Amino acid sequence: MQKSQIQPWVAQHPLLQRMVALEPITWFNPRATTLAAGLPHVGLTAADVAAAEQRLARFAPYLAAAFPETQPTGGIIESDLVAIPAMQQALDRRFGLRLGGKLLLKKDSHLPISGSIKARGGIYEVLTHAETLALEAGLLQTGDDYTRLFSDEFRQFFSQYRIAVGSTGNLGLSIGIISARLGFDVSVHMSADARAWKKQKLRENGVTVVEYAEDYGVAVEQGRKQAANDPRCFFIDDENSQTLFLGYAVAGGRLKRQFAEQGIVVDAQHPLFVYLPCGVGGGPGGVAFGLKLAFGDHVHCIFAEPTHSPCMLLGVYSGLHDGIAVQDLGIDNRTAADGLAVGRASGFVGRAMERLLSAFYTLSDEEMFALLGLLDKHEHLQLEPSALAGMAGPWRVAAHVKALSEQGINAESLAQATHLVWATGGGMVPPAEMAKYLAAGQAAE
Ligand SMILES: *Cc1c(COP(=O)(O)O)cnc(C)c1O
Repeated sequence: MQKSQIQPWVAQHPLLQRMVALEPITWFNPRATTLAAGLPHVGLTAADVAAAEQRLARFAPYLAAAFPETQPTGGIIESDLVAIPAMQQALDRRFGLRLGGKLLLKKDSHLPISGSIKARGGIYEVLTHAETLALEAGLLQTGDDYTRLFSDEFRQFFSQYRIAVGSTGNLGLSIGIISARLGFDVSVHMSADARAWKKQKLRENGVTVVEYAEDYGVAVEQGRKQAANDPRCFFIDDENSQTLFLGYAVAGGRLKRQFAEQGIVVDAQHPLFVYLPCGVGGGPGGVAFGLKLAFGDHVHCIFAEPTHSPCMLLGVYSGLHDGIAVQDLGIDNRTAADGLAVGRASGFVGRAMERLLSAFYTLSDEEMFALLGLLDKHEHLQLEPSALAGMAGPWRVAAHVKALSEQGINAESLAQATHLVWATGGGMVPPAEMAKYLAAGQAAE
């Protein structure tokens, strides 16, 4: 779209005007459809997700050896699922609306190795690349015990290869740590908003950190450029990678097993709503894909974004996807929610998933901080600001009875729903940083 066309276009769409005014928005997606109708547009299948699960199973012995903190789960990187009833009560009061059903938290914030949702996709993509290289070189067979990879011989082999990635922080942390542990020569291109402690942690782990004064988009472009001129350098493309997406998607089947263990039923009378913070879209998109495969039409996925960075909402609402950025509308893409400070959404994820997402909403940084403070106060759980974006979702959704009924959800089933907030990060935030977040949280309440 030409610059001169943007203003008249915004003027014609009240939702875009509210977006530009940085108002919190809740938008139910009119293109949301059944799994059967939406799946062909994804371009990936249940078999692809199953193959990703198998690859992670092959690598589990390696991960258990290289990262002893994964030994309790046998080298499988997975997070706990917990009920947060005190938070549910506190938010019933805050929002003046009694939420039927049950509020749960998925603690990707406390995933091993990198303490965020990026421990799913980022690590999976590096493992996939490492396996491909080792298989092609004839050094490994898929039937081998992969603890073999935790050796000087393999570190030497991988040290001939480079990996590059652009990141606002958490993706860099995941990819940097796993790549360096395998032996790769890895560079993380970090945007201005990336936290100093993340850069420091990467350097301590033997990762090259390249810093930029600009935002995420610039960091990614520079990473891409470095790799383009170097055949031994593999660029991890957060904006378009199907491999990353599949690494996230494995979460769906695993959550289904956790639900079964905890006796939580999901069916037409007991729908499941999942609230996912969205940055570029790969993490929430991949998880949502896995959830849809696992729970079919009984799961409703809702994306949450900061009012200052509503890139996926803008891309899907307009149908322009990565053809438009929030900055094109004069929105500044400045938010304290580092993982979500993305101005242009993934075109791949938007196009793949736009028929399988039920709703989108935005919330202010102040609200994320207030929710951060409340979760600490009522559940003694500490997360980073991004990870609270989903926490307002259940009350947003429950307030839109008419839109829900248009998507086939009545009051009776809503009263028996499970609301799952995906806590995407915070487990590795240093105590001094967390103290600042908590102080901001208290101030925002
Ligand atoms: C990366 C990230 C997200 C969003 O994931 P995308 O793939 O960028 O959409 C959400 N929360 C946290 C804490 C993150 O690090």
